[in-house]
Amino acid sequence: MKGDRMIVKQRLALLLMVLSVALLSGCQTLQNIDKGLYDVAESITETDRVTGQRTLSAADRSAQIRQGNAAVEQLLAEEKKAGRKLDAALDRKQYQRLVRIFDRIHQVSHLSQERWQPILIDRDTFNAFTTGGTYIVVHRGLMQQLNDAEVAAVVGHEIAHTVANHVGERQTTQQISLLASSAARKDGYQAAYTHELEREADRIGVLYAALAGYDPYAATGIWQRQLRQEGNARSLFAHDHPVNAERAAETKALADRVKQYYQPGRINPNSAALLDNNSLWQKRENQDAATAGEGGGVSAILSTALGAYVGHQQAKQEAVRQAQYAQFVKAVESYMKLEQQRRASDKSWTTRWRYSGNLPLKGVIMGFMAQDSGGKIYRYVAHQPGIVRPGQRFDLTFKTNDGTTLKQIEKMKARYYVDDAVPAR
Ligand SMILES: [Zn+2]
Repeated sequence: MKGDRMIVKQRLALLLMVLSVALLSGCQTLQNIDKGLYDVAESITETDRVTGQRTLSAADRSAQIRQGNAAVEQLLAEEKKAGRKLDAALDRKQYQRLVRIFDRIHQVSHLSQERWQPILIDRDTFNAFTTGGTYIVVHRGLMQQLNDAEVAAVVGHEIAHTVANHVGERQTTQQISLLASSAARKDGYQAAYTHELEREADRIGVLYAALAGYDPYAATGIWQRQLRQEGNARSLFAHDHPVNAERAAETKALADRVKQYYQPGRINPNSAALLDNNSLWQKRENQDAATAGEGGGVSAILSTALGAYVGHQQAKQEAVRQAQYAQFVKAVESYMKLEQQRRASDKSWTTRWRYSGNLPLKGVIMGFMAQDSGGKIYRYVAHQPGIVRPGQRFDLTFKTNDGTTLKQIEKMKARYYVDDAVPAR
């Protein structure tokens, strides 16, 4: 019996060594490509994820909780000092709704044994974040913009970042404040992670939503809406994040695979077993971990890490593909000539374009970006349905969907850009 345990431990150590080396070698490429706009991304380096932390011991986990929670508690103290309300005092109805949705997702998650607390803060932006501890912080604006299943999708995604151990040790209070700020980018749930970590959190989060009885397609709905409203933002934030169309397609593919577990409005009675074995990942070698004297929660985290490893290899290729794609879109831009533009109303204008490239395109989205004297950015997009052939002319109508008038825009610095396009076959 004792001998068995030794062998198990040796095998586990070997496995972890192999895993660490493999993950580290994958990281160099990713680190070069995935540069976030914010310092936050720097604090979540790949190395953080693999230096033993992907395989947290109970002691490591409690240290992580202490650090993560201290940062949030400092933020909460600052909120109070600034006279801003929190939670139910801020908005009773939205807070109750958040707690209700959170509880169901948390219950089916890998971290259901931990005591977590959702926090509602007074920001009108679309944002939510976790810090590796046991808080999830949600901006009020996000609650106002999303329906229950969509909130569940975000909550599941955020818990998943902690489950998969994406939150680095060095996440400082300053960075937390940035996540809490209204200036945080809104094209990710929290805009702090790399493409690959986002996909990993999506994989776990979409499963949680289905197990908790929330429509697993809700995440897709969020990204589709984002796509309609702001295009793909590909040329603006080229490499650092999966863009809206891809995120929509990827989360839909995930939902297709987990919808079998979705029982509308109720928790799947097999949810605990499904966390280990489901259509997205299977618990395999790491059976050993459960018998190696670690706690159940720890082995659950480990199983996710192993599942993530497989995804990691694919992500390397994906990162390269992303970079090439961004270059392609940039190239398309040089072949788009603006021939005419005329006012259609106070809040819309029509443009005529000629495409002089030699490769047929589809999914063309043109963007218009303006900046007022105060530095505020305005961005509008127009989608061209169907295929655009070499030499073709096409008309696009831009609308300001934020109440801005053309009179105001005319005074600003502005430019057109190609938001997205793919080769048509
Ligand atoms: Zn995320």
